[in-house]
Amino acid sequence: MLFYQNLRRDLVKTMQILKLDKKNLNEFIFSLNDFGEVHAPVKKGDKQFVFSKLTDFSKIKLEYTRTILPPKKYFHPPTDTLFKFSQEEGYQSLTEELRKKYVIFGLHPCDIYAIKILDLIFAGEFVDDRYFIRRKNVAIIGLDCIPDDKCFCRSMRADFVEDGFDLFLSDIGNSYLVRVGTGRGDDMVRKTQDLFKEVNKKDITEYKRRSDEKKNLFKVDIELSDLPEIMDLEYESKVWEEIGKECLSCGSCSMVCPTCYCYDVFDEINLDANHGVRKRQWDSCLFKDYALVAGGHNFRAERSLRVKNRFFHKQRGFVAQYGRPSCVGCGRCIEACPAKIDIIEVINRIRGAKL
Ligand code: SF4
Ligand code: SF4
Repeated sequence: MLFYQNLRRDLVKTMQILKLDKKNLNEFIFSLNDFGEVHAPVKKGDKQFVFSKLTDFSKIKLEYTRTILPPKKYFHPPTDTLFKFSQEEGYQSLTEELRKKYVIFGLHPCDIYAIKILDLIFAGEFVDDRYFIRRKNVAIIGLDCIPDDKCFCRSMRADFVEDGFDLFLSDIGNSYLVRVGTGRGDDMVRKTQDLFKEVNKKDITEYKRRSDEKKNLFKVDIELSDLPEIMDLEYESKVWEEIGKECLSCGSCSMVCPTCYCYDVFDEINLDANHGVRKRQWDSCLFKDYALVAGGHNFRAERSLRVKNRFFHKQRGFVAQYGRPSCVGCGRCIEACPAKIDIIEVINRIRGAKL
């Protein structure tokens, strides 16, 4: 108990770091149900993964690469019914569902970084209350990962997170090193405190060894330093036309991107024309009618312009506004694109690299 009191006292001074034996992981995850409905990465089909409600511990895939949809679906769902309306009752806000509590287990650093980026966006000029109510009710438990040939989060400085999680687990062999990031994370640990131990010198050495090893596992790298300037210089590059010819305008790259946030708003009115609902739904700047305005003019009617816009917004416009690209290097758009348009390759082409 004294150990735990010291832990709580120290938490205000520095991030608390503990150790969880792997054999206790299921018991720990089970205890998380007190903090919300637990969701974790599970397999979908032969090769893909999704974050889904956890009903069976044996189904968790701790070594997953990336999920089809990113965790943004918990804060900014693909379709969100905002309010209902009727002639008799006027407008009624729909907020009940926003307060449901979730614990999302197993987020990789890039996905946590992406949520930090969404926080900036939704706290912008017009604060999005629906996003932040959900955000408050979702606990985040991070998990370290091994990069594959599509991961470039290291180039995007999103391979490590210092905050943005309640707890973060790093594999150190027979145990996980557990960083406690918030008071809620602290409560989670406190609830099952007998499962946690203090970290010793051997654990720290192993953590550092694995952390170094991970840095060398990245197969792709993008030079970011002068990319905004190069993009400005190459604004009229033929590369955009070439990629525009390949792009199918399907929007998959936006849907799977953990930092794409655009949405469309529309009403669904019942046949009696007396009542209905207003919804918002994910949109994509790659869709043909995204920049279509009243009067029929389309600001980005050509596919090349839409592709260029997406790349400029992620790698150029966001840097100007927030000091970093909005891409976190998760590799989802590379995996999802039916035309095999690869963001790493596009950036290299713009940079003039020989492929
Ligand atoms: S642009 Fe592609 S690689 Fe970058 S964050 Fe979005 S989906 Fe991931
Ligand atoms: S996923 Fe590929 S084909 Fe579809 S809109 Fe994006 S870049 Fe174009």
